[in-house]
Order: sequence, then C-alpha cells, then structure tokens
Amino acid sequence: MRNVLPWREPATPAGTMGEPLTRGRFGEYGGRYAPESLVEACREVDEAFREAWADPGFRGALARLLAVHAGRPTPLTPARRLSEALGVELYLKREDLTHTGSHKINNVLGQALLATRMGRRRLIAETGAGQHGVATATAAALLGLEATVFMGERDIERQALNVFRMRMLGAEVVPVTTGSRTLKDATSEAMRHWVGATADSHYCIGSVVGPDPYPWLVREFQRVIGDEARAQCAAELRTGVPDHVVACVGGGSNAAGTFAGFADTPARLVGVEAEGGAGAARGRLGVLHGSRSLFLQDDDGQIVEAHSVAAGLDYPGVGPEHAHLRDLGRARYVTVTDDEAIAAAVRLARTEGIVPALESAHALAWVIRAAGGGELAAGATVLMTLSGRGDKDVSTLKELL
Ligand SMILES: *Cc1c(COP(=O)(O)O)cnc(C)c1O
Repeated sequence: MRNVLPWREPATPAGTMGEPLTRGRFGEYGGRYAPESLVEACREVDEAFREAWADPGFRGALARLLAVHAGRPTPLTPARRLSEALGVELYLKREDLTHTGSHKINNVLGQALLATRMGRRRLIAETGAGQHGVATATAAALLGLEATVFMGERDIERQALNVFRMRMLGAEVVPVTTGSRTLKDATSEAMRHWVGATADSHYCIGSVVGPDPYPWLVREFQRVIGDEARAQCAAELRTGVPDHVVACVGGGSNAAGTFAGFADTPARLVGVEAEGGAGAARGRLGVLHGSRSLFLQDDDGQIVEAHSVAAGLDYPGVGPEHAHLRDLGRARYVTVTDDEAIAAAVRLARTEGIVPALESAHALAWVIRAAGGGELAAGATVLMTLSGRGDKDVSTLKELL
C-alpha cells in the first residue's frame, strides 16, 4: 500500500523542531509517562542536558570527540551515476563512514559525555539488532564507563556477532526473556532496570523515543547530521538548499537529526518507513515506553510487532516529534517494502560502489520510486541521509539474493 497522506506545501510554524513545549510535548505527542522514580530521573537528565547544551565547554568537548573518535564531519557524496539514471541530482550524507558504521555513534557519544558530567559511572541501553548496543559499549569504553545492554533472547540468537562485539568492548549483555524477546521487550526491561539504578546509571536510549527529555535530547545530538549537511549543500548544490530531504525512519533519530538542519527552509522532508514498521504512516495514538505517540496496534490497542528485513526499522512506533511533523504536514511519511529496499541496496552498490545498510536502502528505494513515478521533478536536488553501512547485512543479503 502506498502512502495516501496529502502532499501539502511545507509550512513551518515558528518553533518547529525547536524546544518541545512544556512537559516535553510536540503538539499532542510526547510527555513523560513513567513511574514516579523515573519521572524524577528524567527531570535530572533534562536539567543536566539543558545546562550542558548551553555550555560551550560541553559542546566543544563533544565536537572534538565526534571529530577525533567518530570521524566527523562525514562527507556529502554526489551519487553521479545513479543521479544520471534517475534524472535527479542525488547527494548522500555519509553516516556510513562514521566509526562503528552508523549515525548511532553521534547520540551515544553525546549521552556518554552527559552521563560523565552527571557523575554517573554506568550506561544502561536496550538494543535490537545490536547496533545501538555496540555504539553504547564503544562510547562507554572510550570514556571509562560501564555498560549494561538489554537484548531480547531471540535477537541474541540472531545477532551473535554484535553480541560478541559488545562483550569484547567490555559491556555486559543481559538476555531478555519476556514477551516476544525482541527490541520492544528489551526497552521495557532496560527502563525497569533503570528504576533501581538511577543514582549511579544513565539510561542511554537509542532513538528519538521514550519519555521527555529523550526525544528532544537525542534529536539535538543527531542534529549534527543536518547542520553539517545544510552547510555542505549551501556550498555544493546548484539550488543551495535541496528540493527534497529524505531519510529512513525506525524510531526516527537519523531523520530527526537530518530534518532539524532544514526545518526552516522550503525543502520537502520525507521520512521513509518499512512497510512492516510504519508507525508514522499507519500507527495509532498510544502510550509506550514513556511517551505518547503513534504505534502499530490491533483493534484492542495491543502493540503489534513490527517486521522488516532491516533490523533497525523493526520498531512498532515512531518518535513523538515525527508524529507532530506529520500532523503539521511539515514532513511526509511513506513506506517501502523489503524487496524494494533490497533492490535499492544492490543498485547503490553497483552504481556508486557503496553497500548501504538495509535501513538506509529504504530511503533510497523511495527516491528511486519517486523519480520513476514523477513525484520528483526532473533535475530536482535530493539530499538523502545514508544512515549506515551494509557490512552488518551481508549475511542477510547473501541468503536473499
Ligand atoms: C538503528 C538504525 C536506523 C534506525 O534508527 P533511527 O532512530 O530511525 O535513525 C537506521 N539506520 C541504521 C543504519 C541504524 O543502525
């Protein structure tokens, strides 16, 4: 099924992608739905983050870590051969070239530095396929913190290599045996564990989801993608600002970070979800993991499990700010199928010499479809965030191709 939301002209009310409203609201979404002790812990994170984010010393320390450890700034690469074939001008923001291979490192370095500033000695995290767990374990090792990573038992079986990586980096990986034994349950378990450990541990959430201030805080740590891309586009694009800005959406952090750099421009923002994980395109209002947002639910309001060939898009909901951007009509959310994403991954490999993460291949699949279907005008400039590299997906692809 294709996206059916109307294609409104971008209208950007003042304050869009600025600070959330009181109590962490993005329109009617967001908030802090958590047990009393976590409400207090979230308040402390909020206060510490506000202080840190206003402190040039903190910003400078983070910028330096991103430069010397993570390899920023990442390049903006024109996809020359593919652009020619599609009749558009496609530019790729290369988060695949960061240390650990995806944008997740931007967020965890920010949160690990914040945890240090708060005097915490341990990071707690949830992980699905293991990407956020590996990034968290990496940041913890770098800053001399401990890391405890909750992971569903089923994911532990499916992602043995990332489990090994986390352990090699010194993290403790805790199997979660409840529910469907995947990401949703690991997140619930990590939050439950944090209740008893707020004094010495920081909960390092992996996307723009969870209770306030996380959706805002994670977006701010990821906005480095959009800010860099904005300056690179100004220098390198014929149009200065791209006509379209495209990113894949799981929880929505790489998209939020990218969009943040362009919210005040006329660029059309497009979030691409997996057909089986389309929280923004097809979710319904609900509360999960501390926040009010859009989630895939059955008729009884039970959360439905997501399914995608891309593990990072296998989340049944979307961050509250994306739900709000959708309602505003400022961003549009579309879906692509597993098969379209796989075909797009192969096409990028063969035209540009880049094997993308299957998550990122979803964004590309929409660009390919939209260029072919006339939704992208001939010669339109398109910025697409390539959220990660495909090394982690080669065994999946080897089975499927
Ligand atoms: C985790 C992941 C995603 C999805 O997460 P967002 O929070 O939606 O960005 C996308 N791409 C890659 C490579 C990932 O590892």
